[in-house]
Amino acid sequence: MHEYFIVQNILRTIEDLIKDYPGKRITKAVFLIGKFSGVEPDLLKTALDFFKKGSPLEDAEIVFELEDLKIRCLDCGKEAVKEKWNMICPFCGSLNTEVISGEEMFLKTLEIEEN
Ligand SMILES: [Zn+2]
Repeated sequence: MHEYFIVQNILRTIEDLIKDYPGKRITKAVFLIGKFSGVEPDLLKTALDFFKKGSPLEDAEIVFELEDLKIRCLDCGKEAVKEKWNMICPFCGSLNTEVISGEEMFLKTLEIEEN
């Protein structure tokens, strides 16, 4: 369950960030999850629900945004969204491509309560 490690890392990051806002609560946290990041949103949610108790995230609304795999072709310069994991450019057939998004998972936004 590598989601547990991910959540522990997330909470550590958030605890560091919130240190600059003493006494404030987090109202909302938005996570971006690439469809090919290897992170299961359901498992991540379960892990977050478990670990967030007593953390700054305890009362926060938690939102997951799923992100498609997107590649850019280095030969023809076009970008394409891929449903399945392959790196072939659908426009020119080149394999000379790079991933732009869809492989990572990170905390996108954190909303902290106002005064
Ligand atoms: Zn191409």
